[in-house]
Amino acid sequence: MIKKFIRRVFGLDSGTPQRVPARTHGVTREQLPAYALKVCDALRGAGFSAYVVGGAVRDLLLGIPPKDYDVATDARPEQVKPLFRRALIIGRRFRLVHVMFGQETIEVSTFRAADAAAAEKDQHGRVLRDNVFGSIEEDARRRDFTVNALYYDPATEEVIDFHGGLADLKKRLMRVIGDPETRFHEDPVRMLRAVRLAAKLGLTIEAKTRAPIRGLAPLIDSVPAARVFDEMLKLLLSGHASACLRQLRAEGLHKGVLPLLDVILDQPLGERFVTLALAQTDERVRTDRPVSPAFLFAALLWHEVLAAWKANQATGERTLPALEQAMDTVLEAQCEKLAITRKLTATMREVWALQPRFEQRSGSRPFRLLEAERFRMAYDFLALRAASGEVPEEIEAWWRSFQAADADTRAEMLLPESAGPKKRRRRRRRKGAPDGAPDASAEPAA
Ligand code: ATP
Ligand code: MG
Repeated sequence: MIKKFIRRVFGLDSGTPQRVPARTHGVTREQLPAYALKVCDALRGAGFSAYVVGGAVRDLLLGIPPKDYDVATDARPEQVKPLFRRALIIGRRFRLVHVMFGQETIEVSTFRAADAAAAEKDQHGRVLRDNVFGSIEEDARRRDFTVNALYYDPATEEVIDFHGGLADLKKRLMRVIGDPETRFHEDPVRMLRAVRLAAKLGLTIEAKTRAPIRGLAPLIDSVPAARVFDEMLKLLLSGHASACLRQLRAEGLHKGVLPLLDVILDQPLGERFVTLALAQTDERVRTDRPVSPAFLFAALLWHEVLAAWKANQATGERTLPALEQAMDTVLEAQCEKLAITRKLTATMREVWALQPRFEQRSGSRPFRLLEAERFRMAYDFLALRAASGEVPEEIEAWWRSFQAADADTRAEMLLPESAGPKKRRRRRRRKGAPDGAPDASAEPAA
């Protein structure tokens, strides 16, 4: 009795699992897609156990359509693979099986133990390797939150609950399994997951789980940048980016992720711009329209670029080289933390670099801008700048009309060539001119 109590207090005990029938939790077999049922049925037919697990069960219980389905089984990868026509063993560190049905892929993983003592860790306690197969109890214990450790058995329609996840779902709580501090040390990304999932699901982070986060936030620095980037992308494309970033900031977590977010959000124009960008992204995600991560990152970092651009110009640098340098500085600083992929940064640069060109509305330049590969994205970016009050609405309205207009109207719309090419050429020849800006209208308006 006492032993059991101590085990429970120290989080060593997963307790007796509760097997909860469909009439209580409400999720029936029919709610699962055919391919998920096929995978579980095939495994079971071969004598193994098979459960839908993780986010899918949690989402079904909350009435949210799951993004993807994961299956957990006691079958080893090499026992799983031959059961399906299209299946692949993936992963070196921990092997699992991807089973493909048409467009859908379902991830089948063997129950796995997180032997905290045996796992290889870095100096912060971050687990580097945990690749031991285990029992279903052990598999449940290594998961991050109680609401993520629910197993659905399609054969009996029961939910198996080792850590009180069902009760927490009812109370709308995100609670870490075990000791929060230890679990965040093992994997600091769990702190970002807590924030993202809480925002997505409308759950509250339980007080004990939340308490250590602010203090442990710097641990994010020890996580490989590519993984932070993946998590950040999930967060930004969750349809709840605004809520997530607000909460990240409230928990002091943004410092490891977008270190200068504080600075950006402290400038009124910057805050309005970022808020608008996030709201627009959330709206697009929720209405199933495509979103571009490049656009989003370009927006998040724009006010930093603006500040650096202005600073470079103040030292006498000409407009465009000053912008180029500003982009370099900002991307270098951010990529150290955030491994934004090269493909993304290339697009971000294009979108930023096109911005000054919207100010030029005479001669052939507007026509050349229309032809630019990233014109549409750059124009959307301009619209956001206008909506946040950074550039005059009139410029955005002009470009909106110009795009839609026929050839004659476009010709009529062009502005007179006052600060046109002649003047530019003359300025270029006058090397070292004090102002140096080839076109004063291209100054950032912020
Ligand atoms: P969503 O897919 O909606 O973003 P999810 O909870 O399904 O959320 P996944 O990354 O798909 O997230 O992970 C599937 C499951 O794997 C989780 O529900 C959880 O049980 C477990 N898991 C994922 N990441 C971790 C982690 N860092 N530590 C412990 N368990 C994890
Ligand atoms: Mg998932």
